[in-house]
Amino acid sequence: MKTLILSLLGITLMVGIVACSGEKDEWEEEIPPSLRIGFLSQTKVIAHRGYWNTKGSAENSLAALQKAAEAGFYGSEFDVRFTADGVPVICHDEKINGHMIEMVYYDRIKYTKLSNGETLPTLQQYLRRGKELDIQLILELKTYKTSEKDVTYIETIVSMVKGMGMEKQVEYISFSLPACREFIRLSPQSSVSYLGGNIPPAELKKQGFAGIDYLCDVLREKPEWIQEAKEVGMTVNVWTVNDLMMMYDFILKEVDFITTDKPAHLKKMVQ
Ligand code: MG
Repeated sequence: MKTLILSLLGITLMVGIVACSGEKDEWEEEIPPSLRIGFLSQTKVIAHRGYWNTKGSAENSLAALQKAAEAGFYGSEFDVRFTADGVPVICHDEKINGHMIEMVYYDRIKYTKLSNGETLPTLQQYLRRGKELDIQLILELKTYKTSEKDVTYIETIVSMVKGMGMEKQVEYISFSLPACREFIRLSPQSSVSYLGGNIPPAELKKQGFAGIDYLCDVLREKPEWIQEAKEVGMTVNVWTVNDLMMMYDFILKEVDFITTDKPAHLKKMVQ
């Protein structure tokens, strides 16, 4: 019945799609009323690299985390990399300011400014800020060239998170299967989801995974994996969905989470 109502809403939607301009602050942009699914939806909003698509923010910044919490999103996704001397910093790219992060000492990059003027955050700072806020922290551990290296620093992360009592607030994701398995082993009470997109949910469930976190193209090609995940009691997160029609479609498919660069749009659709 729920699906039927949502599908009928979808027909209305065909009439009223508008393109979204990138000019305005994302929060100020309107979306067609037909896209507002509202209380019928169970999908939660995860801001990809935090809520950066708004004034004063930047990808993977403390401001983006703060703004995601203030906007009432479920979670803020962020990327973790380690410097050569083992300091975890929040950064998507493998290079910052021309330095390969894994090859450089933290001292060399610690004053690097993000585009909003903020200094490159460390994981410790990110967790501390997150603990003050009511928001889930979706921690992506970036991978290395070898799986041996992928697992090197997991104990460091887990003990930092445990030391702050945040095992439930921090959810782990990675493209590295060995890294994910190590998170499951060291922090069985935390949610761990695999990003790779190449393993059926039921197989991951047997290995202790809480969810799948797959690319939108994968789940469009294999929509049956959404159902399979639900049947075995796993969560489904889909990334990075920035197209409103695609968001709408995944909401209809009742995914648990959508990770997006347009979290304000998604929030308007599901609130
Ligand atoms: Mg990421």
